[in-house]
Amino acid sequence: MKAPLRQNSDLYMKKNEIEVLFTKEQIQKRVEELARQIEDDYHGRDLVVVGVLKGAFIFMSDLVRSVKTPLACDFLRVSSYEHDKNTGVVRMEFDTTQPITGKDVLLVEDIVDSGRTLRHILKHMEAKEPRSVKVASLLYKETGAGIKKLVNYIGFETPDRYVIGYGLDSEGIYRSLPYIGAFK
Ligand code: 5GP
Repeated sequence: MKAPLRQNSDLYMKKNEIEVLFTKEQIQKRVEELARQIEDDYHGRDLVVVGVLKGAFIFMSDLVRSVKTPLACDFLRVSSYEHDKNTGVVRMEFDTTQPITGKDVLLVEDIVDSGRTLRHILKHMEAKEPRSVKVASLLYKETGAGIKKLVNYIGFETPDRYVIGYGLDSEGIYRSLPYIGAFK
């Protein structure tokens, strides 16, 4: 039988090469804080939370379980990265499936870096005429792109390093790490 591409032991060995930037406990605490803000802001509203796949899937699942007001979940998928490098071209691979016209949409992103992906998605969502669109991003990379005003809820600001874990990958791996880190 052929050996799996990456074995668990490889992942654990690599862990010694990863610097933890935000621990599991810090993330949990921050997700709870964001959930309280979202509950206050969307009380009594028709909220649709739209996760941007794949990177946001863990953040989104923790966030929606912490928000104690009714909401609907949907997803879309865009891609712009190949081999951990930004190609500069944002492609919509699949779109949301439920109508969002007249509803309050909360886009959930893993990380906003140049903001190119976010701008693309916002334009796309606004064409569907929702009542409002806001953005929650687990991470915001301070690269001077000047797009912070587009992000309403920020988990953490990160240095300009390639980060992994808690949904974020490197070549498809490391999404399952419970913390956020960067290679040393
Ligand atoms: P932007 O379009 O803002 O430059 O990049 C946003 C997207 O690029 C994110 O949704 C994510 O998929 C990817 N990305 C940007 N920076 C990083 C990073 O440091 N780590 C990982 N894993 N993905 C990143």
